[in-house]
Amino acid sequence: MNKFIFVSGGVCSSLGKGVSASSLGALLEGRGFNVRMVKCDPYINVDAGTMSPYQHGEVYVTDDGAETDLDLGNYARFTSGPLSHANSITTGQIYDAVIRKEREGRYLGRTIQVIPHITDEIKRRILAVAKESPDNDVVIVEIGGTVGDIESIPFLEAARQMIHELGRNNSISVHLTLIPEVAGSELKTKPTQHSVKAMQELGIQPDVLICRSPVMLDEATRRKIALFTNVENEAVIVSYDVNTTIYQVPLVFYEQKLDQIVLKKMGVEARHADLSAWYLMMDKFNTRDGKVRVGVVGKYMELHDAYKSVYEALFHAGLACGVVMDIVKIDSAQLENASDLDAVLGGGCNSPLDGILIPGGFGERGIDGMTRAAAWARTRKVPYFGICLGMQVMVIEWARNVLGWENADSTEFSHDTTHPVISLLEDQIDVQMMGGTMRLGNSESRAREGTLLKAAYGETAIHERHRHRYEFSNKYRTDMINSGLIISAFTPDDSLVESVEWPDHPWGVGVQFHPEFKSKPTAAHPLFTAFVKALIKNSAENHG
Ligand code: GLN
Repeated sequence: MNKFIFVSGGVCSSLGKGVSASSLGALLEGRGFNVRMVKCDPYINVDAGTMSPYQHGEVYVTDDGAETDLDLGNYARFTSGPLSHANSITTGQIYDAVIRKEREGRYLGRTIQVIPHITDEIKRRILAVAKESPDNDVVIVEIGGTVGDIESIPFLEAARQMIHELGRNNSISVHLTLIPEVAGSELKTKPTQHSVKAMQELGIQPDVLICRSPVMLDEATRRKIALFTNVENEAVIVSYDVNTTIYQVPLVFYEQKLDQIVLKKMGVEARHADLSAWYLMMDKFNTRDGKVRVGVVGKYMELHDAYKSVYEALFHAGLACGVVMDIVKIDSAQLENASDLDAVLGGGCNSPLDGILIPGGFGERGIDGMTRAAAWARTRKVPYFGICLGMQVMVIEWARNVLGWENADSTEFSHDTTHPVISLLEDQIDVQMMGGTMRLGNSESRAREGTLLKAAYGETAIHERHRHRYEFSNKYRTDMINSGLIISAFTPDDSLVESVEWPDHPWGVGVQFHPEFKSKPTAAHPLFTAFVKALIKNSAENHG
């Protein structure tokens, strides 16, 4: 069975197309189908790796080291199919491949055009995902952008061709729109009518509409939308605002039978639905008691999406531990001149932070603020979790304040440091091209006995994803160990340090890899769970 569902969006951006596509994926998986998720991004960048987090939010990294759009993170949190380079398609990649083939002379003298050459390449890649495994049942293809954008036209055209070629039984269109509320009361369907019209002009009749709306729509409004858009009444699904969590969305869709409608349209018999993991997760959400406050000290704080997987992983661990996570976003640059860190991070005596997390990042800005936050957490014995850059900051802070090497630094931030405790990976020294050239993707680390890391994972072999150019400098290993810093994981060949811990501290762990990419609402990541347990303990001591 090879079925394709094309998910497009209209009216405006940020309606939650990724969450809608993923929620549909979760429902189909709940019925026992093998689902693959694909994101088509209309931008011309080859991948998201070179984009600023401010422009585009976080870069999600797959096991095979693809630097992808953050929607792949949604796919990973809602569904369980494998994700790799193949699941993230950009205009940049498509043109790159077509132009390369043209240079190789593989088009035999023909004129290369958007239709058919660009659209063929898009179709080839989508079909390749379906063919990856004979067990694949459904490929859900999310088309980035909003209908009407110039950039997404080739992707929508490829979808149109596939729907036409494969037949409506094998491929359908799901279109997401907005039902805005005007003047506080009236819900407007006109933007949805126009959006569907724009799809029809491109030759695609949506089979299912998902309407984002502040509230559930009444029958009359749904009928009106159906009438104007040629969509069946029952296929007008309302994605009303849930004031709980985005992870309730699969259940909102399930109540409206989205999965059954989609399967019926594709001529597939619905199997028994098992959504127990999602219901259990919602039970956990509703029965949390207690709250812990964690300060995330980073540099891209204005944009929630810049650290999306980190925030989500904290939330998942909170669910697993039965607590609400109160995440305080702290711009590290602001800590640089703060005269009293106890006042800022300790919150006076009223609401101190129960712990600090420093996530990944690039470039010099804000590093001193992070180092100060790490020093504060270490000396005040406050739980600390450093991820990638957050681990490097831990090492720099230790070198400066414990070893007394005042200008110890990473060579990313200072070229004339006397103690480059973090420096460029050997194989990075001659790298000129910025895209896709970091240490990327899954690799194994070995946790040492008796460490917090080993306790959290419960096993020695750890498999996590990387995305960095700089590394703990091996020439300082002995000094670091002799001064008490615990090295809790190495690569299997011992060549690279993967994790450090503070001695005589309740929970201070830094990891060079990115555990946040593997956390799910239905299966929190063990390292985040261990951190949240430390926060709960500290909170009890703070408030008790
Ligand atoms: N900038 C650091 C490096 O490249 C850390 C990267 C990260 O935090 N992802 O090594």
